[in-house]
Amino acid sequence: GRTSRLAIEEARKKVAHLLDCQPSEIFFTSCGTESTNTIFQAAIHSLGCKHIITSPIEHHATLHSAEVLCKQFGIELQFAKHDAAGQIDYNHLEKIIIECSQKGNTFVSIMHANNEIGIVNDIERIGNFCKKEHAYFHSDMVQTVGHFPISLQKLPIDFASASAHKFHGPKGSGALYINKNVSINPYILGGGQERNMRAGTENVAGIVGFAAALNFANAEMETENEQTLQLKNYCLEKLQNAITDLTINGTVKHSLPRVISVLLPINDKSEMLQMSLDIRGIAVSGGSACSSGALGGSHVINTISATPGVPLRISFCKWNTREEVDVFVAALVDILN
Ligand code: PLP
Repeated sequence: GRTSRLAIEEARKKVAHLLDCQPSEIFFTSCGTESTNTIFQAAIHSLGCKHIITSPIEHHATLHSAEVLCKQFGIELQFAKHDAAGQIDYNHLEKIIIECSQKGNTFVSIMHANNEIGIVNDIERIGNFCKKEHAYFHSDMVQTVGHFPISLQKLPIDFASASAHKFHGPKGSGALYINKNVSINPYILGGGQERNMRAGTENVAGIVGFAAALNFANAEMETENEQTLQLKNYCLEKLQNAITDLTINGTVKHSLPRVISVLLPINDKSEMLQMSLDIRGIAVSGGSACSSGALGGSHVINTISATPGVPLRISFCKWNTREEVDVFVAALVDILN
């Protein structure tokens, strides 16, 4: 017991050091989804928020929490607007933050980077604005922890969600950051684990794995970002040369270096596209890679784009190669033709 406890606390210290916050601000959870659910529950039940603001292109962990809880507890739900590239309309967001904050306690949840189209939001700007208007701010940082240098101490945020499997850590291991100045009640009740914030026997291997993977990821993030960006640019160029009527979702500028999102022309092959690529050993996704098996298109693409097409998300890590990109593009062209 003591050995496990020590391992967990060592992991907490390491994670806090890597994310530049205090160990007491880090809580281990089962995944990013649980972290986000915990905070939405807390926003309503601990912080008394009567107004929730989020974006229609958030991950479903956020969207479904917002929709279900707002309906259940009669909370006002507002959505920030986006342009056709998926970029948030900051003026609109700030306008609704002011409107809601004037009416009562407000909770804002905006992700750092979008998992489908890669768009990166300016969470420093959003957090500062929330602070000014006395609104609570949560950011789903599942796509950026382990990929970007992050100082939670310097960022003006109250809560953040992270997940180990996004930086080559074990699946089923997440973390929740709760700023020391905010006090909330736990979502999962039971034993006193995680300093009474998250009951249930800890996933010791998952927690230790979270810290170890984050340590590797932080040390290698600069090289990894450079390598994946080169692959991304190479792949984009090849795709544009090979396929007419290809639409690129998102912007190239404020975007994750490892994610490409495109719309392919619809033809009789496109319905089976993902499966046909899978049979050839190529793993891409139709929308979000984490809604395993979910069908029905992408809520992100459907929100930002009126262009008809088949969404395809291609993502890279440092172990992918140019040769693999060549194989992928050749296979895609072959299948589409
Ligand atoms: N948020 C984002 C942006 C994601 O990409 C994911 C994907 O997994 C999640 C939340 C959910 O995290 P988890 O799979 O750890 O529940």
